[in-house]
Amino acid sequence: MPVLVMKFGGTSVATLDRIRRAAKRVGVEVAKGYDVIVIVSAMSGETNKLVGYVGETSPLYDAREYDAVVSSGENVTAGLMALTLQEMDVPARSWQGWQVPLLTTSAHSAARIEEIPTDNLNARFADGMRVAVVAGFQGISPEGRITTLGRGGSDTTAVAFAAAFGAERCDIYTDVDGVYTTDPRIADKARKLDRIAFEEMLELASLGAKVLQTRSVELAMRYNVKLRVLSSFEEQSDDAGTLVCAEEEIVESNVVNGIAYSRDEAKMTLISVADRPGIAAAIFGPLSDAGVNVDMIIQNISEEGRTDMTFSCPIDQVARAEKSLSEAKDRGEINYHDLVADTNVAKVSAVGIGMRSQSGVAAKMFQTLRDEGVNIKVIATSEIKISVLIDRKYMELAVQSLHDAFELDKVT
Ligand code: ASP
Ligand code: MG
Repeated sequence: MPVLVMKFGGTSVATLDRIRRAAKRVGVEVAKGYDVIVIVSAMSGETNKLVGYVGETSPLYDAREYDAVVSSGENVTAGLMALTLQEMDVPARSWQGWQVPLLTTSAHSAARIEEIPTDNLNARFADGMRVAVVAGFQGISPEGRITTLGRGGSDTTAVAFAAAFGAERCDIYTDVDGVYTTDPRIADKARKLDRIAFEEMLELASLGAKVLQTRSVELAMRYNVKLRVLSSFEEQSDDAGTLVCAEEEIVESNVVNGIAYSRDEAKMTLISVADRPGIAAAIFGPLSDAGVNVDMIIQNISEEGRTDMTFSCPIDQVARAEKSLSEAKDRGEINYHDLVADTNVAKVSAVGIGMRSQSGVAAKMFQTLRDEGVNIKVIATSEIKISVLIDRKYMELAVQSLHDAFELDKVT
């Protein structure tokens, strides 16, 4: 029988009532003839609560015990979902990650999935089980310890199961009805996209659109898993939500399909560093060792052998960045006159695969911001994305005016 993966996020299983409602959706797919693998998150708020317990008990906690605790929220919803399905006469049972087993690396709290053997579940499907309810977010390490996949990791569990079982589709049920051209709370003209390409979704997810864990989109792209994002609160038709799929499956597309933003950015400038071979490695090596996620980088032209180096990183990593750079300076590996942090910036990005073939997108973006009197501090581009760093107070204005300028409220 064809397999379907259905993932229910925390808000979709937040109460027994909602679990019942989700189970009904599962029942509909079972009736269509699918064997269904249901991946559940913990009830909303539950994982935060567990993370809090761990921190209160042990500030410098043992990561293995952290995983043992925070993975438990999903065990509850998996069991409850299986019971609810059984009450509806749907043959179902729950599986914790280790029972499948979902094999991961031993990087506790940020483990990667290595393999999902399919024989256990397939044997039960062959026996008449119609729904395997699997606890998301968790797995087992080579050492036999429980691991978790990072916050939001149930999305990744779902996609990995879809890939392993060759599922027809992976439906992600959440509290929004799809992926939007931008955040509807900022731009009221934001439009729900019917389809979006993996590459675009990957950019949007890593730029802070919180619908899907970035890693899950990477996996879906690698294994060509059709991903659908849809709401568990609305009656659903077969083409509801947003389909995240390969570019070839998208007929109509604008040049720019999304405006993303991130409020929590900082811009750091090293003033007057020696411009010599190896200087970038000497700066960004220690930053990377310190776990600083550097995003945009500019090296200015140099004068008399010295130059300024500017980069951006998440605002909560500024202290770490400062520490690692000043330590590198103390070790004599780099030399700079000053290190200036600007923590009042935000990043706004335009994303679209159409940029590969159409020129003028950057110019239009810059003109739009100029017309609004917004100063651009740093620019970075990739094949399908243009990002600018601007003063945070202009962020909403920039998002709205770019959404208008690129006419994202309609398919052009
Ligand atoms: N419950 C976990 C979290 O809140 C995993 C997930 O829901 O995706 O991060
Ligand atoms: Mg989530």
